Amino acid sequence: MPHILIVEDERHLAQGLRFNLEAEGFTVTLAETGEAALELLSNEHYADLMVLDVMLPGKSGFEVADELRQAKNYLPILMLTARASAEDVLAGFAAGADDYLPKPFDLAILVARIHGLLRRRQWLAPADAPPDVYAFQGRVVDFTRLEIQYGERRYPLTLMEANLLRYLVQREGRPISRKAMLAEVWDLREETDTRAIDNFIVRLRKYLEDEPAHPRHLLTVRGVGYQFVAKTP
Ligand code: CA
Repeated sequence: MPHILIVEDERHLAQGLRFNLEAEGFTVTLAETGEAALELLSNEHYADLMVLDVMLPGKSGFEVADELRQAKNYLPILMLTARASAEDVLAGFAAGADDYLPKPFDLAILVARIHGLLRRRQWLAPADAPPDVYAFQGRVVDFTRLEIQYGERRYPLTLMEANLLRYLVQREGRPISRKAMLAEVWDLREETDTRAIDNFIVRLRKYLEDEPAHPRHLLTVRGVGYQFVAKTP
């Protein structure tokens, strides 16, 4: 029975969500503030997924997601954005959200997105499947356990970091535009500012590069986007 933590300060909406998600068979806990949610989530295994509103009375949803990721908690986050603005959506992904839904939304769509995120997570980590691993230049990317190993070091990945890296690795040696990444990895197809991608690349370079300021694997392709190169000359 997946446990969903809903962080939403509008009580009617929160209770309506709880009612409907419980009817779907989920266990649901409500939190009215980001601070309360972070407290609950200090237990790493508290919930299976968080539905997180952006506009909250204290800390914003962006801040909550960011703090959770800083604390190396990789709980799937579905963010509820006030507007469908691309800036909000990208800020959410930059803070560590895995998916988003603009308000007002259709309950059936929310439920579908929750199932999708939970499925993607299982699909990344099925108990009996062989590990889905990619190794290059001493680094081992484990897409099942969502981590990169390099010597003694281990770097945890969010779902979105893993999805982006997998996308680039599968296209090794080919320059990929930011627009293509947004469309294929995030399913964002509108004309939009693509700088959020750069934040993800900065993070991935910290895990993949000996000198993140002088990348040799995750290369910037001027005027296009990025390119993953496994072997360096
Ligand atoms: Ca709110």
